[in-house]
Amino acid sequence: MLTEAPVRIGTARASEVARCPRMGGYSLLGFERVELDERSQRLVLRGRMLHDWKLSQLVERYGDGVEIERRVAWPHGELREDALILDPGIAVEIKTTTALRATDAYWLQLAFAVRYDDAAEAGCLVLVHPATLEERVLPFRLTAEWSARVDGISDALTDVREAAVDPPSPSPQPPGLPERICAHPGEAASHFCPFAGPCFDGWQYPPAEELAAEHAGSIAALVLVERRRKALASELRAAEEERAGIRDTLRPLLRPRFPYTLGGVSGSVTIKRTESAGRVLYDVADAVSAGQLDADALAPFTRVGKPSERWTVVEHEGGALPAPDYGEVPF
Ligand code: SF4
Repeated sequence: MLTEAPVRIGTARASEVARCPRMGGYSLLGFERVELDERSQRLVLRGRMLHDWKLSQLVERYGDGVEIERRVAWPHGELREDALILDPGIAVEIKTTTALRATDAYWLQLAFAVRYDDAAEAGCLVLVHPATLEERVLPFRLTAEWSARVDGISDALTDVREAAVDPPSPSPQPPGLPERICAHPGEAASHFCPFAGPCFDGWQYPPAEELAAEHAGSIAALVLVERRRKALASELRAAEEERAGIRDTLRPLLRPRFPYTLGGVSGSVTIKRTESAGRVLYDVADAVSAGQLDADALAPFTRVGKPSERWTVVEHEGGALPAPDYGEVPF
């Protein structure tokens, strides 16, 4: 689907640039935004409500010492910080997330704020769980790496702007646009992107290559083992849920670390419940992203895991599965 050709060189929203620099390019070139689907709109609305609630808490706490929705100039227009705590200058970004984990886009948006707001010395990411309202507050420091990344993206957008001005490009793929971060248009919704139309204009799923018929048995065996794995995983999930329910019933009867047997039938079953304190875990990758830990200092403690791969096995409706290949059968 082709949306309208660009009509003006506009401004790029930092929140969009942080999610995807290419999205920032379309925004800069004034491409028409396609309305998000209903579900995405509801999620955005929920995010805004929580966002306003957290901002009101900041005002309650800091009064005149906080500036809400502060506007800051950057090379491609104006970016809007959720808030700036004035003394010391801390740029605040509020994000709603069920995982309570910072994403690269969240950090990047904060990096834009701290990079371009002269009054901001550092930043702070507030993550809010939309259902439980739990929150995490993570500090942020603009490192040389973050500055270089922000400047690199800004320069890339300058190239987009210049390429579009001379000569003007009505193409849905104007020259100089940063690379796509989505592998296919279906991923656009997860980035709340309003430019999937022009971004994937003319794009088609690559056709599947045909494998030789001699591999049919192995493929069938793979499909069957995937089916079995899914069935076992679902059985395991059900057993774990059932076990959790039974444990909830018995827990009040059992003092920690004391063995119990069934009344009168000692020896048939022994049950013991042991409590352990929650382990302290460190999000080292987050601490590096937040500029609180130096990646170089961590180098001696670094271990690289084994490379991994992801397989996707999809059975199509109406397709006939060939007989699995069991190899040589000695009878
Ligand atoms: S569709 Fe994906 S790659 Fe394209 S602009 Fe949007 S977020 Fe970026």
